[in-house]
Amino acid sequence: MQEKHPAGGYQAAGTWNVSPRTLSRQERRTSFGEVESTLTLAQAVQEANRCLYCYDAPCIQGCPAQIQIPEFIARIRSHNLTGAAEVIYRDNPLGAICGRVCPVEALCQKACTSCRINTPIAIGSLQRFVCDLAIQEGRIAFQDETNVLGKVAVVGGGPAGLSCAHYLRQRGCEVDLFEKEDLAGGLLRWGIPIYRLPEEVAKREIDLITNRVALHRKYLLGTQAEDFLKQYDAIFLGIGLSSPILLRTPGADLPGVYAAASFLRALREKKGGDFAFYGKEIAVVGGGATALDAARSAIRLGASKVTVLYRRTAEEMPAFSSEVEAAFQEGVDFLWLMSPVEITPVDGRLKLILEGIRLGEPDESGRASVIPTGVRTNFLADAVLVAIASQAEPAGVEGWMDRPKVFRGGDLTGGATVVQAVADGKEAALRIISWLEKGGSQ
Ligand SMILES: Cc1cc2nc3c(=O)[nH]c(=O)nc-3n(C[C@H](O)[C@H](O)[C@H](O)COP(=O)(O)OP(=O)(O)OC[C@H]3O[C@@H](n4cnc5c(N)ncnc54)[C@H](O)[C@@H]3O)c2cc1C
Ligand code: SF4
Repeated sequence: MQEKHPAGGYQAAGTWNVSPRTLSRQERRTSFGEVESTLTLAQAVQEANRCLYCYDAPCIQGCPAQIQIPEFIARIRSHNLTGAAEVIYRDNPLGAICGRVCPVEALCQKACTSCRINTPIAIGSLQRFVCDLAIQEGRIAFQDETNVLGKVAVVGGGPAGLSCAHYLRQRGCEVDLFEKEDLAGGLLRWGIPIYRLPEEVAKREIDLITNRVALHRKYLLGTQAEDFLKQYDAIFLGIGLSSPILLRTPGADLPGVYAAASFLRALREKKGGDFAFYGKEIAVVGGGATALDAARSAIRLGASKVTVLYRRTAEEMPAFSSEVEAAFQEGVDFLWLMSPVEITPVDGRLKLILEGIRLGEPDESGRASVIPTGVRTNFLADAVLVAIASQAEPAGVEGWMDRPKVFRGGDLTGGATVVQAVADGKEAALRIISWLEKGGSQ
């Protein structure tokens, strides 16, 4: 008996690959503890032994950061764990973070040849195992060249800016990193919840980069474009999309209606107590990573019922499939093909008027277009978390686009994953280095 595996291959009724220990549904509903544990050495070696070491390594093509996956897996097999870590960190300075948060089912593991035989190699779990151990044992020390190639401003301390800063420093550039918050990390600090990315794990890898640059915290890039252009040999903009877009429906500004991004941030700042969700019914509007993390976090705060309202179907949800599956497991409900058109207060609660949707021909985004049917229904909730979209901090982009010497990457240029931001930051650093080596001409 074979079952279709989410990554495209077939899985026999038994399990082929090792799997990390995961918290039970009940544990997840009552704590923010990390859902998955790191593999043991025995599990990692067992999994490494399954790798086919394919000559064309399609897994590498599936990795935006181009980590040499079979090379690091071969080193695990021979118990050379320091060597395995070196291979990973060569192409991705946020290896332990990405080993946790990469949507591997859509990237390297989707491309893995082993899908055709049974299940993909657990590349993400292996990467996490190697990087966790290397960092815990203090085996990661990046070497930077000492000759100064140039002076670069990196704006935004999220994964795109951090990666760019790292590769620039390795080649000997002086780097000034400007971050509008009091800590660098971007969504690694303020977005992704701790049950998927513990604070300490993020901090360790972020510090390994920020310790090697001049970090200017609480610095909001605004109208300083001309000064920056004079002062620096090149500028990298990795400011992400940090301003949430709110609903435009009547009632969207009522008390009890929150931006999901602000809710997630409050949890990371340990201000979850501001959200008295225990025993309450929560509606979450949206279908991306923010919506799913907000729903799963509300469950952990003790909400009695959490419903994700999404205007398309599960197939079109931008959230990663592993997140949708985890939300189902944790008891999150979903209402598809529904969009709120009005919110009104009723007896201390919120009444959402939802309009039914039917899907039409693909729009410019390539996804099915959304056609309101006119059929309306009421939905009651105690609080509403809105996660429909976000945009760049307006002050950060005005007057900056399409200037010579200005390079960009990450979510600002259409990325949507940490590893894509890392890859963009690396690519921009290599372009900046080549531009500086040629004396500043493209
Ligand atoms: C809730 C949530 C969960 C997610 N889960 C995952 C996941 O599991 N896996 C995954 O791969 N991706 C996930 N993502 C997406 C991922 O976090 C982003 O793709 C990634 O962080 C983008 O990196 P970035 O550096 O481009 O932007 P950001 O991480 O947004 O960093 C931008 C930085 O720039 C700073 N900044 C902004 N404007 C200015 C300014 N004007 N001046 C100075 N600094 C400024 C910001 O404060 C921030 O530190 C998630 C996103 C969210 C919101
Ligand atoms: S595609 Fe899969 S089996 Fe082949 S080298 Fe990569 S990880 Fe190993």
